[in-house]
Amino acid sequence: MSVTANGSDGGGEAPKLVGRAGPAANLIIRGARLLDPRGGLDAPRDLVVRDGEIAEIAEPGGAPEIEGAEVVEGEGLLALPGFVDPHVHLRVPGQEHKEDLETGTRSAAAGGYCAVIAMANTSPPIDSAAVLGSVRDRAEREASIPIGFVANVTRGMAGQELSEMAELSEAGAIGFSDDGLPIADARVLRRALQYQRLAGGVIALHEEDPDLSSGGVMNEGAVSAALGMAGVPEVSESTMIARDCSLALYEGARVHVQHLSARKSVEEIAHAKALDVQVSCEASPHHLTLTDEAVRSLDARFKMNPPLRTEDDRQALIDGLRDGTVDCVATDHAPHAAEEKEVPFEEAAWGVTGLETAFAALHTELVLPGVLPLEVLVERLTCGGEPFGIEAPRLEVGAVANVAVIDPELTWTVGEDGYESRSYNNCFGGRELTGRVLMTVAAGRVAFRQRSFALGVAS
Ligand SMILES: [Zn+2]
Ligand SMILES: [Zn+2]
Repeated sequence: MSVTANGSDGGGEAPKLVGRAGPAANLIIRGARLLDPRGGLDAPRDLVVRDGEIAEIAEPGGAPEIEGAEVVEGEGLLALPGFVDPHVHLRVPGQEHKEDLETGTRSAAAGGYCAVIAMANTSPPIDSAAVLGSVRDRAEREASIPIGFVANVTRGMAGQELSEMAELSEAGAIGFSDDGLPIADARVLRRALQYQRLAGGVIALHEEDPDLSSGGVMNEGAVSAALGMAGVPEVSESTMIARDCSLALYEGARVHVQHLSARKSVEEIAHAKALDVQVSCEASPHHLTLTDEAVRSLDARFKMNPPLRTEDDRQALIDGLRDGTVDCVATDHAPHAAEEKEVPFEEAAWGVTGLETAFAALHTELVLPGVLPLEVLVERLTCGGEPFGIEAPRLEVGAVANVAVIDPELTWTVGEDGYESRSYNNCFGGRELTGRVLMTVAAGRVAFRQRSFALGVAS
């Protein structure tokens, strides 16, 4: 299954990715550095997109003029395969004052994303074919890039009775998750894993032992002690990962572990992978670039679940991302209204937005200082759909065009021009970051153009 909105993946099932139809792109990106790590491509080239497909990759200056095609002068710019985010919250249905499918996909496209996978902890939650059908219908009208919708593992996200997983899969669920909440009861998860083998679609897990984390508002450690705040210990996460990897192995089922935050969690994943457990996992830009030291500011934009942890944990996540123990980057984009964040830290809602800053934050904090090679970052940003059966976009002739055009040297202040997202609880707000997405082509259509980025049109 590749990134094409409304494309069938065969077998008569509903397509897993849905988005709005629109005019197919015709453009020439001249002389940009084309970087596609999987194809071994890293060179200045002309990239020709015709009717939404990559029609030609030529030596710089080698692409012919095409009547009516937009010309992007790409010298000094990067052209990358579009990113795929396996974990976003678009708040539809029920919390459209925080985000909706139009603002959420515009925010994603502004971050270089060509597809996102939306979580199901909505209001009501997406635990029935009827609710799933209604959000998919809305995506066909409102989504500027394709969205894959997960459905809940349990009815009402109550953690007790399983949803109709086979029916939801047929109705287009791309996978299953109760994200926002863990599946605390091992017997319930075990039965879900048995159904997953039949229904297909990975089960994505928010790993947290609710008894261990109960009452905590930040990482348990030196900083929580200094601030006098109740902490969430790292073992709240790692013990659940160990439990669920054991269950997945026992049942021969496939799981995807969401938002790793701690060294012990990385170690549990490495251990499980060594045992051939069918497990993949993700880490977020905030856990890869920030620590619980940021909480000393008492700014609620640093409150998320799992919480920011220590520098040692952060280093383990970076090492895991580099060596592939951590498969992909996920933003866990979690928009909240101002009144839910502009309150004392302990009372604030959990979660931060991140679609518009993922590349810039990781490029600034990890690539520019030489901590992580650019091609590894690009790989981990583009392969986020794979746990859900979505192939990573590629820059190759014949492929549907999914391209992020980025100025790697442009320094900008996050939030100075506002956000495309309806919410502005971004933990990098006010920071200067280097690297900015100028244009995104998703599923063969131009989904985003930076306002300041002028294009030429050949006559
Ligand atoms: Zn979560
Ligand atoms: Zn989440």
